[in-house]
Amino acid sequence: MFSLELDEIKNWMSENGEKPFRAAQVFEWLYIKRVTSFEDMTNLSKPLRDNLTESFEMTTLKTLIQQQSSDGTIKFLFELHDGYSIETVLMRHEYGNSVCVTTQVGCRIGCTFCASTLGGLKRNLEAGEIVAQVLKVQQALDETEERVSSVVIMGIGEPFDNYESMMSFLRTINNEKGLNIGARHITVSTSGIIPKIYKFADEKTQINFAISLHAANTELRSRLMPINRAYKLPDLMDAVKYYIDKTGRRVSFEYGLFGGVNDSVEHAEELADLVKDVKCHINLIPVNYVPERDYVRTPKEKIFEFEKALKKRGVNVTIRREQGHDIDAACGQLRAKERKEETR
Ligand code: SAH
Repeated sequence: MFSLELDEIKNWMSENGEKPFRAAQVFEWLYIKRVTSFEDMTNLSKPLRDNLTESFEMTTLKTLIQQQSSDGTIKFLFELHDGYSIETVLMRHEYGNSVCVTTQVGCRIGCTFCASTLGGLKRNLEAGEIVAQVLKVQQALDETEERVSSVVIMGIGEPFDNYESMMSFLRTINNEKGLNIGARHITVSTSGIIPKIYKFADEKTQINFAISLHAANTELRSRLMPINRAYKLPDLMDAVKYYIDKTGRRVSFEYGLFGGVNDSVEHAEELADLVKDVKCHINLIPVNYVPERDYVRTPKEKIFEFEKALKKRGVNVTIRREQGHDIDAACGQLRAKERKEETR
């Protein structure tokens, strides 16, 4: 049911001889009152409730693990109807509660530092399975009367490799008759699937857009992210500039610091050159250790040097605050640990 957008529910109502406003009622039950059965939608007629029950499934995510970190971060491992598992993370910031959602079971991009790609791509998530992650976290927050205020699509998977479901998910959580999460409170991140960047630019949304860069030259980026062989850095930068032109928005580049690989002052200078004329912000991510991958952390002082070198050249930069360090909160880590058979 969560895969249907409000307009699609409206169409279903008309096809079933019901008034279109019934759709908004259903939407309200799902996303504002957050009931878990059609039977509970008491302002609908009994025949309509029965018809809905027969026609749709309520996507259920079974909570396998719920781990709370000392900083309030909660990591969920959910099981899907076909037995696969996915991760969702709730992060707490001063400005509110942010949920990091997964878009695919596994990933086929193959970044050499990432745990999500171990075992490859199993399948895409349906829009409803992405929506359900936000709802599950919202239901957990309902106990303390808190609200999910922002969403980042930075969990397992490449969102632009599951584009239609991702867009449908965005429209549903953004809908003001439902969860009403504002576009500027949503961030989507891609490893750089260029044709989809053009497509996304043409949607002209106000959603925050991030690109995983990790290297400022083609050779190094191809080593870290094999996708760079298909979608090369100069073309990626063209696509990003097109995005900025079309939307008028600033973009973010994620730059993971991998010890001895891409973290020297020279690398910082190269990065500054690359983004010189690009309206952007750089997010430095100290690498999360993944047992299956052998990257090491950049020492703190070197991280600050890297940051300083960028600032000196006028680049907007911040170092990502780390959360949930004690609970395997990096993409795909919990799943990789708990579900070895799935990630081999
Ligand atoms: N597939 C999308 C969404 C994932 S976002 C993308 O690639 O953008 C998660 C971010 O964390 C990405 O920038 C990813 O490159 C980064 N990441 C993955 N594994 C990491 C690790 N071990 N250490 C630091 N960052 C990592």
